[in-house]
Amino acid sequence: MTHPPFARCKTCKRSLDWSEDRGWDHPALALRLDPSIRHHHPEPEFVSESNPTTVAVCDFCSATDRINWRYPCKDFGDEAHGWGSAGGWAACDNCHSYIEADMWTTIERRARRGREVVWPLIGASIRGMWAEFRRNRTGPAHFTGRETR
Ligand SMILES: [Zn+2]
Ligand SMILES: [Zn+2]
Repeated sequence: MTHPPFARCKTCKRSLDWSEDRGWDHPALALRLDPSIRHHHPEPEFVSESNPTTVAVCDFCSATDRINWRYPCKDFGDEAHGWGSAGGWAACDNCHSYIEADMWTTIERRARRGREVVWPLIGASIRGMWAEFRRNRTGPAHFTGRETR
């Protein structure tokens, strides 16, 4: 089955993950961070490779600009218990730099911005997702953005 490499949800503009069995779906991490996403079906809007800058949300800090990197990652998690990850993880320029430098406290500081109230509830599971990401990552990040230099 062929499909364009990137799609985002028409409704919430988040980048979608592809899997053979489920097709395009909201990334598990996004569903965890914002359970209200479950209230709509992911409707893919395909982003051409010639215009990848419209791809959407950083899977680490939820930034919506300069999402220029994608980390290959094995699927992991426990579908029955509603957590896990399918497909690669998108990263913004900043998170990419911090991931490369292994600066996870800085990534956490970015990720909790605007979520201070719920962070005590979700922080531990998000750190757990990142630990699984580090274990399941299969290679270096691919640059998916537009070359600027
Ligand atoms: Zn959506
Ligand atoms: Zn980020």
